[in-house]
Amino acid sequence: MNRDVVISGGGPVGLMLACELRLAGVDVLVVERLPEPDQTIKAGSVNLTTGEAFYRRGLLPAMDAVVERNSAQIRKFLESRGGGGPKTVPVGHFAGIMVASDGVDFGDPAFRDVGPAARVVVIQQQDVEAILAERATELGVEIRRGVELTGFDADDDGVSVHLDDRETVRAGWLVGADGGRSFVRKQAGFEFPGTDPAITGRQALTELTGADVLPAGWQHGPGGLYVHGPTPGRVLTVEFDGPPADRDAPVTAQEIEDSFRRVSGADVRVTQLHSATRFTDNARQASTYRRGRVLLAGDAAHVHSPFGGQGLNLGIGDAVNLGWKLAATVHGWAPEGLLDTYTTERHPIGEWVLEWTRAQVALMRSDVRTRALRRVVDDLLHTGDGATYLAKKLSGVLHRYPIEGEHDLTGRAAPDFAFADGSRLGEHLHNGKALLLDLADHAGLRETANGWAGRVGVLTMKCDSEPALTGVLVRPDGHIAWAREGGSVAGLEAALHRWFGAPA
Ligand SMILES: Cc1cc2nc3c(=O)[nH]c(=O)nc-3n(C[C@H](O)[C@H](O)[C@H](O)COP(=O)(O)OP(=O)(O)OC[C@H]3O[C@@H](n4cnc5c(N)ncnc54)[C@H](O)[C@@H]3O)c2cc1C
Repeated sequence: MNRDVVISGGGPVGLMLACELRLAGVDVLVVERLPEPDQTIKAGSVNLTTGEAFYRRGLLPAMDAVVERNSAQIRKFLESRGGGGPKTVPVGHFAGIMVASDGVDFGDPAFRDVGPAARVVVIQQQDVEAILAERATELGVEIRRGVELTGFDADDDGVSVHLDDRETVRAGWLVGADGGRSFVRKQAGFEFPGTDPAITGRQALTELTGADVLPAGWQHGPGGLYVHGPTPGRVLTVEFDGPPADRDAPVTAQEIEDSFRRVSGADVRVTQLHSATRFTDNARQASTYRRGRVLLAGDAAHVHSPFGGQGLNLGIGDAVNLGWKLAATVHGWAPEGLLDTYTTERHPIGEWVLEWTRAQVALMRSDVRTRALRRVVDDLLHTGDGATYLAKKLSGVLHRYPIEGEHDLTGRAAPDFAFADGSRLGEHLHNGKALLLDLADHAGLRETANGWAGRVGVLTMKCDSEPALTGVLVRPDGHIAWAREGGSVAGLEAALHRWFGAPA
């Protein structure tokens, strides 16, 4: 083999996966057909789960400066606008119904021990990609830009990957992180069932005139929905007259201006277009994320409208779930079936996101009945319970993998436990390894883990948990594989076997 893994696509998901694999000692090549990073305006924020993924790998300091810059821009823009926009930091929106964070009960047990990751919210996709690309390079990942994957032949032992129709690389595994129109997905014959598009959305970063009269935030206009903000010149429109006739045609300033005029009814002029994209509500998901030695991650595995801002989060979640499992498979210690748990764990979350976005499109329509329903949902989301429900859904704190185990924490993302020495759990996960927390100074627990040294680190710490935990086994992706209270370590050995193979 020339390479352990080839990743097609150097977008955020391909880059995050490459970092995870390289951290685990895997030889990885990323091929990206664009010679320079894509500057098209896309995601403008990430959720708590994604923030945690970055935090656990030590990327928080790199993100802080960018987040601060973006937050300052948003505050300034909101202060300059009239009514309609949120007056406090929004927790997010559902179908354009903005919900402020001050209505949310952050004392809810689902938000237990949320650490500093919560501060990574307002960050542009381009900034995420730049930080991940720098990190990948630091770790020794080879990223070949301006190189396209043009074909591949997969067999039982590996994949021959053809690049630019003139070079072949032999790899153990191929991952398609090549976006919604994934060549890898189509070529490998993955099924991609779902629902057809019915709307056209447009998002652009512009210089414009005539928009000062428009309130900030999501607005219903005569011809659809629009948003002006949260940063100057950022415009989003949604029209319900079917998908675009030609999805590949370049988006022009005239198209954005026409659409903005139709939906807002205002006399706006787009004087300059910095970046623009079109999107639809095409909602599809691969029925499995693995076919033999070919895997899918991110938009390649699932597409949907961007409402509610979940796509990037979903893809980063795929990458951190797949990374350590594929690394274990490459290194030869993966227990039976480990790689297939990638689909079993991630597919249901993708399915939820598709449903979440479909529900929003349904509620955005402007007919009389939908408007009436929208008012009801608006009322509900502005109750304490409604706001807390939305915050829990959007943040990802409710995502739980189907992992066997008696303790209620099993399968959940680990709380960012605060330890007696002042450190927090996330600071101990930078090396990308699993971690067994010994919270009761338990010799038996440490002894049990001896056979897995090298794959599972052990950390003896004191932590004020209620009820008192004996130990917690945290997988490299931050999810809990085992937890126990009251001095018992029953089930620990089975969990170590289940996730980290036979003892060395
Ligand atoms: C308008 C809009 C707003 C959005 N807002 C949000 C938001 O607020 N929050 C959120 O979480 N998500 C949001 N998203 C979704 C988010 O942008 C995507 O989910 C995310 O980009 C997926 O990342 P990815 O790496 O899977 O795919 P991509 O970002 O599409 O990257 C795939 C890469 O693969 C490369 N590639 C493709 N084919 C080949 C090939 N054959 N060979 C080599 N390279 C190839 C492409 O050039 C590309 O760089 C939004 C999307 C849009 C369009």
